[in-house]
Amino acid sequence: MEPTFSIIAPIYNEECCLDELHRRISEVMDQTHEPWELVLVNDGSRDASPEIIRRLAASDKRIRPVMFARNFGHQIAVTAGLDYSRGQAVVIIDADLQDPPEVILEMIAKWREGAEVVFAVRAEREGESWFKKFTASLFYRIIYSITDVKIPLDSGDFRLMDRKVVNVMNSMREHHRFLRGMSAWVGFNQVGVTYNRAARFGGETKYPFKKMFKLALNAITGFSYFPLQLATYVGFITAGLAILAIPVVAVLRAMQSQAFFGQASTLLAVLFLGGVQLISLGILGEYIGRIYDEVKGRPLYIVSQKPDDFHTDETKLTGENL
Ligand code: UDP
Ligand code: MG
Repeated sequence: MEPTFSIIAPIYNEECCLDELHRRISEVMDQTHEPWELVLVNDGSRDASPEIIRRLAASDKRIRPVMFARNFGHQIAVTAGLDYSRGQAVVIIDADLQDPPEVILEMIAKWREGAEVVFAVRAEREGESWFKKFTASLFYRIIYSITDVKIPLDSGDFRLMDRKVVNVMNSMREHHRFLRGMSAWVGFNQVGVTYNRAARFGGETKYPFKKMFKLALNAITGFSYFPLQLATYVGFITAGLAILAIPVVAVLRAMQSQAFFGQASTLLAVLFLGGVQLISLGILGEYIGRIYDEVKGRPLYIVSQKPDDFHTDETKLTGENL
């Protein structure tokens, strides 16, 4: 039987949290009295996570494990979860229990009232450094101001999506993914719920500054041409300044002034424009690199074991597949 609800958790070195995740999710989802599944996507973990997932899957048939051949990153792991989910409503949640599973019940209530995307907005964040909170807050505000889709402020990937929305998302196969942007972009009836983001249940963040920066670049390039247009704006401004400077310099020259004729001013102008040009080239490079990745058309991820590789024997015996 197809489950009503799918819960997707991406997993990268989360041995600390998996048993507790399974316990809390089961506790919450059993209250719905509907069939549900938990899609655990192992994103190339190097700790005991794969063994724990196998053990959990053997003891609970509602678990659908997807094992990646290597680490592909959080957004890709969630994408695989969406691909393998079968529920009528699909919830994305972090495996470290920073997103309290109890909020899922609130999301389901909104879904039953007709919402097609229920995103969770973080009111408070516990147990995170001021640097993480500051960069995260800056990130949401920059993305909001320069991208073309209005991504709700302070909402992460913790959300519920209706099957209709998931099907549209699954048809979008871009390589550099920013899922919360994509799920805002598709439209439909979207509502928010607020929650307090808890501290990690255990372990450490798998999102160092470098990965956050990469995600921010994907968000900006994926949803805005603004950086490309920046070169045009700066070009017009410097060209405008240069045109204004021509009569000024001519008059000064006529007055035999020595202003602006030193080497330093020439050098500064050359260095400044050289810098602007290199930055513009770099920005072009970011977009061209992304075009190159799309043109190569490689798969988004490689799976070493899919859900059917796990429960086959038992399901055949009980005839569930017939
Ligand atoms: N994650 C993943 N692949 C990665 C990095 C993270 O699947 O390369 C998962 C991680 O296991 C967790 C979720 O993404 O379930 C969010 O990561 P994390 O909690 O480390 O990020 P933070 O909450 O600190 O932003
Ligand atoms: Mg976390």
